[in-house]
Amino acid sequence: MNNFQKRKSVNRYDLVIVGAGPAGSSAALTASSRGLKTLIVEKQREVGRNILCAEGVSCNFLNLVKPKKGVATIIYRAGLTFENGESIFIEKEDGIGAVLERKIFDRHIFERAVEQGAEPLVGTPMVDIQKDGKYYKIKLEGKNGKMSVYAENIIGADGPASRVALLSGIENPPKIVHYCSQVYLYHPEIDGKTILFYFGNNLAPGGYAWVFPKDDGYANVGVGTTDPGDASWNYLAKFLDKYYKGAKILGFLRGTVPSGGLDLEFQKDRVFLTGDAARFADPLSGGGIANAFISGNIASLAIVEDKPEEYREKINNILEKDYRLSLLARQIIYSMDDSELNILAQELKRVFHGKNLTEIKSFNLVKMIFSTSPALWGLIIKKGGVNIAKTIQKIVS
Ligand SMILES: Cc1cc2nc3c(=O)[nH]c(=O)nc-3n(C[C@H](O)[C@H](O)[C@H](O)COP(=O)(O)OP(=O)(O)OC[C@H]3O[C@@H](n4cnc5c(N)ncnc54)[C@H](O)[C@@H]3O)c2cc1C
Repeated sequence: MNNFQKRKSVNRYDLVIVGAGPAGSSAALTASSRGLKTLIVEKQREVGRNILCAEGVSCNFLNLVKPKKGVATIIYRAGLTFENGESIFIEKEDGIGAVLERKIFDRHIFERAVEQGAEPLVGTPMVDIQKDGKYYKIKLEGKNGKMSVYAENIIGADGPASRVALLSGIENPPKIVHYCSQVYLYHPEIDGKTILFYFGNNLAPGGYAWVFPKDDGYANVGVGTTDPGDASWNYLAKFLDKYYKGAKILGFLRGTVPSGGLDLEFQKDRVFLTGDAARFADPLSGGGIANAFISGNIASLAIVEDKPEEYREKINNILEKDYRLSLLARQIIYSMDDSELNILAQELKRVFHGKNLTEIKSFNLVKMIFSTSPALWGLIIKKGGVNIAKTIQKIVS
């Protein structure tokens, strides 16, 4: 009897997790280490295939996860460049963040979950969900045929195009979508310890271009924009032509990052959405790895403690402040015209350029800007109105 046939007879679980990205594997790790009978299903033949991501994370995230594998490089310097040519660099002696090697990192977290007792099923897409008494009947389609498993709880960790959301009737069209194109390239000028961001209304409307190094010479370089269709690819081609002429392209990917999830539905009965399935990526940066990992953990804890009603409250407690601040910052920054962006660039340069920071936290940075730059306050009030300025002040105070 092979594994697939064996599972056909023993197919009831406390929890079935759909998707083995950061959200799913984190959920599986928490659930299985606390004794839940957990199945984690992944449609790809192996975890870590076809990942579309620039792979940047903060030092706080590294401290939380403490990965033994999957970190490509530690970043000590960050640069912001505006279309008018203004560049601002900040440094941090003990590291600003890191760039992961997600194909190794994702597998590492998945393996940790399996070591704790989670049952893995790879190469097996989830295709349907039906309610069957107190259980959910979850239909899977592996290379050996179709099978059904039963679970009291489901965690949807199946990314931006979540079928779990669709099949369980959770309507959560994202409030904001970043359309992204990315290449992995070689260019001799890439510094393996410096992360770069580029802003401008012609360069990447509603988003930014990034250069996230993996090592000296090698980087993920991409553009995220709110312009749909082929736009991100066209912006990226122009960006590469301007800044990295002659780069050797070693791979390319396209995809979307959905955000705005805290204002949407992300749970129904005992179906819990996490990570990109719940649209939890940051609305300003599009970063979603940390929130995926954190939400997977919180969803599993709500199930372990048998308090499903607390999932939303706990998510809000942990993610909401940063989310609201990012949403407001996004609203203001992306409504600026070129002359206003120039003021922003000059003021940021005055406040931050060349600073060796002891701590980089969005709250502290925003506080620092407000206490030293009346010009930026003026701009915020002009773009967002007095109420937005007051709300920002309240969030950071
Ligand atoms: C171009 C780009 C750059 C990005 N850069 C960054 C960055 O630098 N830093 C950052 O923090 N975030 C970044 N993000 C966002 C980040 O990649 C996501 O937020 C993160 O991967 C979300 O993790 P997840 O586990 O929710 O989903 P995913 O990582 O998408 O994992 C979902 C998993 O579910 C599986 N799956 C899907 N459907 C099914 C099914 N029906 N049955 C079984 N399995 C299924 C998939 O194969 C996949 O393994 C970027 C995103 C993009 C598009």
